[in-house]
Amino acid sequence: MAQASKPVRVRFAPSPTGELHIGGARTAIFNWAFARATGGTFVLRIEDTDPERSTEENKQVILRGMRGLGLDWDEGPEVGGDFGPYLQTERFDTYKQALEDLKAKGAVYPCFCTKEELDAKRAVAEQSEGGYSGYDRTCRSLSAEEAQARIDAGEPHVWRLRVPENHGPLELDDAVYCHMSVPADVMDDMILVRTDGSPTYNFAVVCDDTNMAITHVIRGDDHLSNTPRQILIYEALGYEVPTFAHLSMILGSDGRKLSKRRNATSVEQYLKMGFLPDALVNFLALLGWSLDGETTIIPRNVLCENFSLDRITKKDAILDETKLDWMNGEYIKNMGAAAWVDAVAPFLIEAGLTTAEEITTKHDWFEKLYPLVAERMKRLVEAPEKLAFIFAGEAIELDEKSVAKNLLKEGCRADEVLAHVRDILADESIAWECDPLQDTVAELAEKLDLKKKLIFQPIRVAVTGSQVSPPLFESIELMDRATVVARLDHVIANVFGN
Ligand code: GLU
Repeated sequence: MAQASKPVRVRFAPSPTGELHIGGARTAIFNWAFARATGGTFVLRIEDTDPERSTEENKQVILRGMRGLGLDWDEGPEVGGDFGPYLQTERFDTYKQALEDLKAKGAVYPCFCTKEELDAKRAVAEQSEGGYSGYDRTCRSLSAEEAQARIDAGEPHVWRLRVPENHGPLELDDAVYCHMSVPADVMDDMILVRTDGSPTYNFAVVCDDTNMAITHVIRGDDHLSNTPRQILIYEALGYEVPTFAHLSMILGSDGRKLSKRRNATSVEQYLKMGFLPDALVNFLALLGWSLDGETTIIPRNVLCENFSLDRITKKDAILDETKLDWMNGEYIKNMGAAAWVDAVAPFLIEAGLTTAEEITTKHDWFEKLYPLVAERMKRLVEAPEKLAFIFAGEAIELDEKSVAKNLLKEGCRADEVLAHVRDILADESIAWECDPLQDTVAELAEKLDLKKKLIFQPIRVAVTGSQVSPPLFESIELMDRATVVARLDHVIANVFGN
């Protein structure tokens, strides 16, 4: 049943719901990485049969999310391919064709039971000892003539699968869940085509996976119960059954199901929080898969070379945000200045610190900000707060606690220190560079007989506004002399009243 010898073709088949869910993104990554690892093809198919939710915008949300994560698809919307179209709403003729095929084989029958009738039967069955076990197959025994006559008379009807009698158990070798066996005689004569002619999920998905020559279906285990049903449809159509791999649930760090109320659930949210696409892909790849059971930093290329289905676990995956923060920090540390500037740009612009144009024209200068924060950042969204002082004007807002502790503390002589520092920094004969400035200022410690900390902390507060900041003179070097001197003057005048 497995199609191991054929070139791998996998698909990610999201329904546009208004977000690319983090669980969906994990499914997409597994499919993408599997295609890349096997030299196969990764197809993106949009399951847009729900007219309410399937708006153009919701479709774009998916495409943006995929692109945001750097998951490129070989076939699909906006890319095309030989097996298109890639939107289910554009594939209705293929479902019609498949239905005709099933009719010709006698594998389906029309059902005229109304919703009211079905509801009533269900209610009765639910009260009975055995409970409800699916449609009672009333219309299955209608003669072909009667069925045709009712269709010709315009009576509304659905098309149901005629589950074969005496079918042995349905055997499934899931790549993750291993062997499963489901008795076929408990299977419902499920609806394949609704009264309005639209296909049900199970029918459309089987038609599409077959017509798109999908070899492996890798998807969330919320679809596990659909799989035996889909196998029956494959069999009815006479199609080869693909290999299935069902992925475990992703739970929050509290062990509960992810929920919009308690967790960030969409890719867009994570990107907005300042997680890097590379870090997210790495992190999500490890939710249910591992390279060797211990390696945590797995760059894309390593993932794409090594991904395999046999290292997927069926244990529930835990989304540990602390680990994600750590991992993102590692990626930030290692990404290099140029890439960091491009990644952090939207955050700096959004905070009003700069403009896209300024970043383009002064890219080299922005790259110098990177070493100031690279070691200390978990999320890109932290950058504006850490760096705002560099962009601020002459009078910077001072943190009260920092002022009390470092400028006004009894005996700290900060007024004296800053008066000296002001003169050093205003001295044009000293190059405006980190080392000469820092060295000259450091000499003050001896001259004034003060600990170095009592020299540097007041400067830090006066220039950055706070007693905690990125490396001081490395930051000062990136600002201009007039601004820094003005900040010192401001403090001298306003804090000390000199
Ligand atoms: N469209 C389905 C969903 O979003 C996925 C179908 C499948 O992978 O078979 O859950």
